[in-house]
Amino acid sequence: MRLKTAKLFAEKTGMQILTDETFRLREFLHRALAAEGEPILTPKAGTQEEASEFLEAYRPQKDRRCKMCYAWRLEQAARFAAENGFTAYTSTLFYSIYQQHDVMKSLAERFAAVYGVKFYYEDFRQGWQEGIDISLALGLYRQGYCGCVFSEEERYSRVMRKAVKKANRARRNERQTLSSVS
Ligand code: SF4
Repeated sequence: MRLKTAKLFAEKTGMQILTDETFRLREFLHRALAAEGEPILTPKAGTQEEASEFLEAYRPQKDRRCKMCYAWRLEQAARFAAENGFTAYTSTLFYSIYQQHDVMKSLAERFAAVYGVKFYYEDFRQGWQEGIDISLALGLYRQGYCGCVFSEEERYSRVMRKAVKKANRARRNERQTLSSVS
């Protein structure tokens, strides 16, 4: 659905789009589970305390999986850019207010150096609301989770949703505190 939406957006805005449509589910799962390490089992009940305890145990596991995912995607983007004569590359990941922005930035810089292609950096999170407004105006599909089956579980499991919401709130507060200090 997201791919379809990206194509529709490109069509509506007259943007050229090149897509890699191979579905590497098994490879992704293999890499994701290896990155996560020991599994933390989702609790069945959902009290606030249980959600908090679960979050504490689960957060590092999720962070490792996402770091693997960023590295995989950014490495492919940098390589593709270098092999196809692009002068720079970037990622829509830098628009997300939910991702580990600084981790992605340092990975993107590293791959830029490896492949000899410029990494175009901009903190696209500043356009978060504008992006939502544009997508609504164009009638585009908006996905309620990041993209993989793990994030789908995080979105639709009541216990996990509570825990992830709490983490996102903490991240937002941290960002707001940082920007008010600087
Ligand atoms: S939650 Fe998003 S960034 Fe993390 S592994 Fe899944 S798709 Fe990748």
